[in-house]
Amino acid sequence: MLARIDVAVIGAGVTGLAAAWHIAQTGRSVCVIERHARPGLEASTHNSGVVHAGLYYPSGSLKARLCVEGRDRLYAFCRNYDVPHAQCGKLVVAHDAEETARLLAMKATGEANGVRGLTIVDRGFIREREPHASGVAALFSPVSGIVDADALVRTLLRVGEAAGVAFLPGAALIAAHTSANGMRLVTAREELVAGAVVNAAGLYADEVSRLLGGETFTIHPCRGEYVELAPAKRHLVRALIYPLPYTHGLGVHTIKTVHGSVWLGPTVRFQVRKDDYEDDRAPVEAFFEPARRVLDGITLEDLRPSGSGIRAKLHGPDVPYADFLIRRDVCNARVIHAAGIESLGLTSCLAVGRLVARILGKIA
Ligand SMILES: Cc1cc2nc3c(=O)[nH]c(=O)nc-3n(C[C@H](O)[C@H](O)[C@H](O)COP(=O)(O)OP(=O)(O)OC[C@H]3O[C@@H](n4cnc5c(N)ncnc54)[C@H](O)[C@@H]3O)c2cc1C
Repeated sequence: MLARIDVAVIGAGVTGLAAAWHIAQTGRSVCVIERHARPGLEASTHNSGVVHAGLYYPSGSLKARLCVEGRDRLYAFCRNYDVPHAQCGKLVVAHDAEETARLLAMKATGEANGVRGLTIVDRGFIREREPHASGVAALFSPVSGIVDADALVRTLLRVGEAAGVAFLPGAALIAAHTSANGMRLVTAREELVAGAVVNAAGLYADEVSRLLGGETFTIHPCRGEYVELAPAKRHLVRALIYPLPYTHGLGVHTIKTVHGSVWLGPTVRFQVRKDDYEDDRAPVEAFFEPARRVLDGITLEDLRPSGSGIRAKLHGPDVPYADFLIRRDVCNARVIHAAGIESLGLTSCLAVGRLVARILGKIA
């Protein structure tokens, strides 16, 4: 007799863990199926660790709504469960009149999305907050911040397990069969029957949808690489300094992490493989000009190679934008997708998890 569970969540990144925690609180039995031995080993711990305010996404989009809601929920969660974080604020710097006009447009978008406290500031303000930041003007976002992504993953797992979530590591989903009483899920570890399945498989969400007999979509892996400032130069950065965004990314920016190190990045590179973090890395030299756009007083010798992450995008390089895909599957009513969770997925995880639980509430 196979084990039966109300809901199986595929993927133990922040999206799957937050969804499972919310689902457990509705009284359903829930497990998280993860192919790795530990949770959060993919995008959820290979990112900038920035808590985004909600400046970048078209008003009315899921990204805009879930970023603003998720940010507030994330700060509250971090305070409640002692996850290291700081609401340190962020400057988006402009270098001329054309860029300053773009700051105004960004401020308007942020305000339309419900971001509070945005101000256009002058060089004096910039120097006061970030003595080494470049720029003639900036958009100051006081609600932006940083979070310890590893600690967030560990804490989501802990609170989930306390609420009854069963975590199944080393259990890659390899096949699935729909029957009248549920979905039979075959994993590398065991088989079980689930009443509903949440697809939170990050880079592999397209393949998992196929396994589940769900709709067809494509995840485009897009690598982002970082360099780190030499320890002796960490004092050059106090918090978050960003350039204006461009088509596929937010631009190489500085991040003072919760542990005091300073990263610059991430770059943007679409690639074929979903597991290739290192091949053909950009040389440190490639970061120098972008770094000088936001920071005065650095030299090439101040930069060291650092980590990288791979975004799970729902669009390729020829398309500028796609919204999150969070909905009941159109082919298989037992499946809910939380896919294409890129860029702001750390910030929005608790709002995404809550939305998944609400969609499930309507169908289960
Ligand atoms: C370079 C970079 C920088 C970023 N910076 C930020 C930032 O500053 N702020 C922010 O808010 N967001 C940021 N993000 C986005 C954020 O990291 C992601 O949106 C978020 O971590 C996505 O979480 P997830 O749980 O959806 O995916 P993941 O963390 O990738 O988790 C998916 C899980 O599914 C598992 N899985 C896949 N297939 C299977 C299978 N068949 N069976 C079982 N398990 C499976 C995987 O092993 C993995 O653990 C960044 C992302 C990148 C790449």
